[in-house]
Amino acid sequence: MQKGNISIHAQNIMPVIKRWLYSDKDIFIREMVSNGCDAITKYHMVRPEDTEALSVHVTVDPQAGELRFEDNGIGMTWEEVEKYINQVAFSSAEEFLKNYSGEDKSGIIGHFGLGFYSAFMAADRVTIDTLSWQEGAKAVRWESSDGMTFEMTDGERATRGTVITLHIMEEEKEFLDEWKVREILEKYCGYMSVPVYLEKVEPPKKEEEKADADKAEKDQEAESGKEEEKKEPEAPKPINETHPLWLKNPKDCTDEEYRENYRKLFHTFDEPLFWIHLNVDYPFNLKGILYFPKIKKDFGGQEGEIKLFNRQVFVADNIKEVIPEFLMLLRGVIDCPDLPLNVSRSFLQNDGYVRKLSAHITKKVADKLNSLFKEDVKQYQTYWDDIHPFIKYGCLRDRKFFEMVSGILLYKTTDDRYLTLGEYRDRNTKAEKKVYYTTDKNRQAAAIALYTGRDIDVVVMDTLIDMNFMSFMEMEGGEDAPTFVRVDAGVDGLTDEEKKDSDLKQEDYEKLFRDALGQKELEVRLQALADESLPALLVEDEQMRRYKEMSAVYGQSFNLPDKYSLVLNTQCDTVKKLNGMEDAEMKEMLCRQIYDLARLSSRPLESEDLKQFIERSQKLMAYLAK
Ligand code: ADP
Ligand code: MG
Repeated sequence: MQKGNISIHAQNIMPVIKRWLYSDKDIFIREMVSNGCDAITKYHMVRPEDTEALSVHVTVDPQAGELRFEDNGIGMTWEEVEKYINQVAFSSAEEFLKNYSGEDKSGIIGHFGLGFYSAFMAADRVTIDTLSWQEGAKAVRWESSDGMTFEMTDGERATRGTVITLHIMEEEKEFLDEWKVREILEKYCGYMSVPVYLEKVEPPKKEEEKADADKAEKDQEAESGKEEEKKEPEAPKPINETHPLWLKNPKDCTDEEYRENYRKLFHTFDEPLFWIHLNVDYPFNLKGILYFPKIKKDFGGQEGEIKLFNRQVFVADNIKEVIPEFLMLLRGVIDCPDLPLNVSRSFLQNDGYVRKLSAHITKKVADKLNSLFKEDVKQYQTYWDDIHPFIKYGCLRDRKFFEMVSGILLYKTTDDRYLTLGEYRDRNTKAEKKVYYTTDKNRQAAAIALYTGRDIDVVVMDTLIDMNFMSFMEMEGGEDAPTFVRVDAGVDGLTDEEKKDSDLKQEDYEKLFRDALGQKELEVRLQALADESLPALLVEDEQMRRYKEMSAVYGQSFNLPDKYSLVLNTQCDTVKKLNGMEDAEMKEMLCRQIYDLARLSSRPLESEDLKQFIERSQKLMAYLAK
């Protein structure tokens, strides 16, 4: 027998590891299973001709209070246990500590190759029973109850491979629950490369129960009369899929396989819109599938999910440093063997390799969108409602991405056309560099009609991201940048150059309306609008309105002035005649009526205003009927 201390740093490191990883304890299971898989992979390399089935077996044994991990892999000799378990162990943990001491736990990727010693997060005694594959090797038994000192003796294992036995601490008993263990295995080991089986040791049956069970079985046999045909126990199924779809060649994958993979990965019945299969060997190794999900209305609430794997071992969800933030709206898997995971997030952020990886993913996404647009623009248009928040967000976040997709950004019109900016301009030469938009198709219907009535397209900008996106396009769109104007923000699109002349006087009308409405500050303008039947419009300055909306979004509530102007149409007979009217009461009523009608074109009238409007309308009708 040999006793000793496990590498010199163990005394310092073990307590820290235990404390820090308290909330991520589950990962010790992953570490045990992945060591088993590694041992099998190594064995396969030294003896590729061996056709024996190789697998990892996890056994939950509540009676013994044990969790066992057994593999028929390469095994270890006495010397190897000394070297890899006693001496070199903690090398990754040490490195980890060097890099992160001082940082708080949240600043670390909670998942890293902590390795074998993570077993002590849940166990108060760990034993290794192992027999090396090498000719003439002797079995070895190693045991430790604290991860700091060990005992080694000759072992009794008769078959090649290793079983690691964890005697689970009293306070970690949940790891003796089969379903809990299954859940953890499915999460972390669901796509490992070697079949992983889970078994549970049932408690021994009491004598009378046994007799009962035997009797029941006999009765049943007698009933069916088929004593011979005893049912074969079903072959146990591994908990994992050893050849995940993302590692296959995209050429060999069917659409249905991609969909099924999606449903399985995300436990959903939803169908993805489309997907991108990432398959790169050079200059870095990257495999994965990114799915575009159907987006539920506003993307604000939408959470994507990208699972990060390292050689088929699940590492973490949504590591923002690796995957561009705006891609977090997508769902999928990324398997990247070379990712330096044992490092802090701030390191990942500044790592050139990670940056390249992230840029590559971005480019692939942009390529896919461009090829969809090129190959089947109709189909692309049907995706637009679902993907536009994601694309717009990407443009705001990533200049490169914006440049790559700038030609395939669409604007949806109120009559459901999907136009590029170029197409909008071609169709709407009258609009010049302006793009007219609405934020609410229903409430702004009257104002929209003024434009659509003149064959000017109005685009719908009704998601949270649109406001930011429009400002972005105005600022970053270069020489050809559009100016976005809400349908109720101005009258530029509605004026008619030929009818500009008018002998109405600005001052007269300003006074007339200010007095009639009792609004001393009201801005009144005279303008020739093309629609002669329209007396007036109430417009709100685009910039002021945006500014107010923005400050509302950011929770500031300055008392910003409303900046409405009443635009009176000099081409409308009612307006023309208004100032010369004799009947003062009628004149005032008409002013108010015109003002209310103008208000109505962008928002409904409420309470007192509505009541007055109705009463006045009735009076006017009575007057006409006279
Ligand atoms: P890593 O897996 O990153 O090398 P670990 O701490 O998980 O670090 O394991 C340390 C070493 O112990 C492994 O490299 C391997 O040599 C040995 N080892 C652990 N588990 C097994 C096993 N089941 N079979 C054979 N060797 C093992
Ligand atoms: Mg390991």
